[in-house]
Amino acid sequence: MVRQISNIVASAIILLNLLSCSKSDTWFKGNLHTHSLWSDGDDFPEMIVDWYKTHGYDFVAISDHNVLAEDERWIVIHDSTKEKSLQTYLGRWSTEWVAMASDSGAKKVRLKTLAEYRGLFEDPGKFLLVQSEEISDRLGKIPIHINATNIAERIAPQGGSTVLAVLQNNIDAVLQQSRETGVAILPHVNHPNYKWAVTAQDLIALRGDHLFELYNGHPLVHNLGDSAHMSIENMWDVVLANRIAQGRPPLFGIAVDDAHNYHETGKKYSNPGMGWIMVRAEELTAPALLAALELGDFYATTGVSLTEISCNHDRIKLKILTEPGVQYVTEFIGTSRNFTQRMGMKRVADEDIGRVLDYVPGSTPTYVFKGDELYVRAKVISTKLKTTPYETGDYEVAWSQPVLPGRRSREQ
Ligand SMILES: [Zn+2]
Ligand SMILES: [Zn+2]
Repeated sequence: MVRQISNIVASAIILLNLLSCSKSDTWFKGNLHTHSLWSDGDDFPEMIVDWYKTHGYDFVAISDHNVLAEDERWIVIHDSTKEKSLQTYLGRWSTEWVAMASDSGAKKVRLKTLAEYRGLFEDPGKFLLVQSEEISDRLGKIPIHINATNIAERIAPQGGSTVLAVLQNNIDAVLQQSRETGVAILPHVNHPNYKWAVTAQDLIALRGDHLFELYNGHPLVHNLGDSAHMSIENMWDVVLANRIAQGRPPLFGIAVDDAHNYHETGKKYSNPGMGWIMVRAEELTAPALLAALELGDFYATTGVSLTEISCNHDRIKLKILTEPGVQYVTEFIGTSRNFTQRMGMKRVADEDIGRVLDYVPGSTPTYVFKGDELYVRAKVISTKLKTTPYETGDYEVAWSQPVLPGRRSREQ
């Protein structure tokens, strides 16, 4: 039986003990962040869900800005992009399904609600839609976005006097709704480097959030940092080192598309299929997926597939699903217990934070703990070029979640 998220939150010890060590061996592929015409995406939700379902995803959460797909909403077809969307929409679905009207000579189309369209796609155990909202807040001109996966009711942006306060107020509102409704709802922090909004210090101090976007496919989110700002991956290590050293739960990293563009592809567009998560859960239901995500029982990827991530008290072992002609190397990255706690103001993490501890070629990389690691995580890098890259020349990679040595009780 799947436990309620609130019960899991209450027990950090259980969380740390079970981290990345589920008994289940079923992996579900999903994307938790994407947009439709309900906000600023350029396609109808049915077309988007159809894309994900026919591309091997098991679940998807359409997360439009500050709106749920639940009320009557008409859009006017006033430009060539919308006309293109309409024509492909009409070509895919029957004219009986598509609701059209005209308004002073302009074509209008009614957007289907989630309640209307989910029946076209959902198949128990095979495909799942999860209701979501991208709560899109700001502090002055700084955008601060939080996703609420499996949200029950729309949450308006909560505001706040600092970036951290805005983050915390929105996270708290999500958790409060979860408590009040009894529904498992999972918040995560979106694209920290978008407009350089969220820093490592903010994520270290934030309470109640277990996930953030390690990889986001939108071209404006600066996954790799710049001359004045650290990359998201460096930021992750700074946050992990400081949080774990304080005895607090780690932050897990997800990969998402944040797709907006479904008709044109290329570096300046945010397309589907750029980054996703593989969740190891007991069943394909929202409560089971969210429970696994909160435990860190998943990995993030832009293409590399893993068939196993196992850990016991002394090692991490991966099995990579290899493709012909592709080579793999795994970086085991970690931080020593003896690192000097700093808040990571620099462009890159300090040398003793997020070091590559070992570099292992092959399809079954293993790392044996030395005894002084605060945590260790694995990054698998392939020689296969990504077909929808974030940057030209990107290779497909996968990221495990951090493992805290000495906390494992069993090997699967
Ligand atoms: Zn956003
Ligand atoms: Zn978004």
